[in-house]
Amino acid sequence: MVIRLERPQLELDDIELIDRVVGERQNGRNREFFQSIHPQWRERVARYVAVGGNPEQIERWTPVTEKAVGNRFRNLYLSPQADSVQKPILDTLRERTLNLCPACGEDGTPNTLDHYLPKEYYPEFSITTANLFPMCDICQGKKRSLTLSEEGERLFIHPYFDHFLDMQLIVLCIGGPFNAPSYFTLAPSEDLPPDIHALVARHLVHLDIEARYSHFFRDSYLQLLRLVRRIRSKDLDVLSQIELFRDMELDKSVNSWRHVFYDGVLRNTNLLAYLEVEVDLPLV
Ligand SMILES: [Zn+2]
Repeated sequence: MVIRLERPQLELDDIELIDRVVGERQNGRNREFFQSIHPQWRERVARYVAVGGNPEQIERWTPVTEKAVGNRFRNLYLSPQADSVQKPILDTLRERTLNLCPACGEDGTPNTLDHYLPKEYYPEFSITTANLFPMCDICQGKKRSLTLSEEGERLFIHPYFDHFLDMQLIVLCIGGPFNAPSYFTLAPSEDLPPDIHALVARHLVHLDIEARYSHFFRDSYLQLLRLVRRIRSKDLDVLSQIELFRDMELDKSVNSWRHVFYDGVLRNTNLLAYLEVEVDLPLV
C-alpha cells in the first residue's frame, strides 16, 4: 500500500530553483514573460508546499491555461538544456532507488516520475520537486491527469505530505468458505478520521488496487494454509505464530501488503477458529 516518502534533500529548495530558472532566462526570448510572472510563480510554489499539494486548495492559475504559455513551463521539465539548473535536479529525482511504488506498494523499482498535480493542468509545478515522486507504470496509467472527484475532493494520497501514512490505512476482509475463500476485499480502516477514511477509499478505487492485488492475497492465503499445516504438525500455537508473522512485517511498514494480510487473518475470528481446530486443512 502507500508508503510515506521523505522529500528529497537537494541543494536548492523549490523557491530557490524558481529564482535560478528565471535568472537563467535573463538573456533569452522568454525573459520578459518569466520576469513578469516571477513573484506569482514563487507564491504558487510556496502555496503548494504549505498545503501539501492538495488540489482542493490550489486553484488553477489563469495565465498558464493557454497552451503556449503552459508549454514554457512544461518544456523546463520535458526538454531541459544540459547546462540548466533543473537538469541535474531532475536527474537526481530519477536516480532514487526505491524498491516499491509509493502509490500502490508494488515491488520493483518505479521507473517514471509522476507529477502529483499533473503538468497538463498545473504546468507551473512541472519542475517543483515537492510535486514529483516515482510511481509504477500501472499507477501512472490509472492516475493519468486526474486530481479531483466530481464533488471536488482530491483523489490521491501524497507520499511526501500525508503524514497519516504512519497509521494503518487498509483492512483486509476474507470471506468464507475458508478452504477456498470467496472474496478478498479491501476497505479503509474504521479507526481513521472520516476525511482520511474517504480519501483512502478514493485512492483505492481510482488506482484499482483491490483488483490488482486479489492475486497476491490468494497466493498469500495458500501459503498461510501450508504454514498452518506445518505449525500444527509441530504442535505449536497457531494464533501466536500468525501474530509473529504479522509483527515481522511491521518492520517494513504497517501498510505493507503482507502486514495487511496477516492483520486481516487475525481480525477474522471465524477464520482463526477454522485454522486452529479444523481437522482437515485442504492439501495445498
Ligand atoms: Zn503503483
